[in-house]
Amino acid sequence: MYFDWTVLLAIPGLLLGLWAQAKVKRAYAKYSQINTQRGIPAQELVRMLLERQGVTGLTIQPVAGQMTDHYDPRKDTLALSQGVYGSASVAAVGVAAHEAGHALQKYDHYPYLSLRTFIVPAVNLGSFAAWPIFLAGIFFSWDPLMYVGIGLFGLVVLFSLITLPVEFDASRRAKAMLVDSGYFTQEELSGVQSVLTAAALTYVASFVSVLLQLLRLLLIAQRRRR
Ligand SMILES: [Zn+2]
Repeated sequence: MYFDWTVLLAIPGLLLGLWAQAKVKRAYAKYSQINTQRGIPAQELVRMLLERQGVTGLTIQPVAGQMTDHYDPRKDTLALSQGVYGSASVAAVGVAAHEAGHALQKYDHYPYLSLRTFIVPAVNLGSFAAWPIFLAGIFFSWDPLMYVGIGLFGLVVLFSLITLPVEFDASRRAKAMLVDSGYFTQEELSGVQSVLTAAALTYVASFVSVLLQLLRLLLIAQRRRR
């Protein structure tokens, strides 16, 4: 009976991902129950924080779902999820300020954000086509095709790697903006820190997971050559 032991490589990434997800959900659940004393709704706060940085004119809009908050640099749109948009909780403040951090990155021409935005189309192709092309390469016993698949998956890994400085930097900017504003107590700021640290861990977990998958593809390819 043939057993592909490389499948075991998927397990640490999966466990790390689940652990990080659980951690971020717990932090979010806890701090979305705690309201900030100032009580400024997240959507209002984002506008205020960015105005202080000289950033105006971007669209701030609500988006359905939980933890679906994001900033789209191409449309210059900052989307806040239902639980965040009108909320003044510590969690909402953290999430909203983090997205404002991304908006600030665009206006500062932060190089890793530009790079990440630039490679998105190739990465989308890579994540869609890498495995099918790799498997086709194995099926037809045609090595070049196999390596095209691996190369495409390499783009996914690269994207995940570039995402790390982009995310850490957005949280760093978020904290600086919140501290500068003077609106928040030390306790509120440390709550924000907990939420943002947990969120950052999910990106680290994603990177570890795709890196291990790349290793797996390389191991499978190498075994077939022998
Ligand atoms: Zn982010």
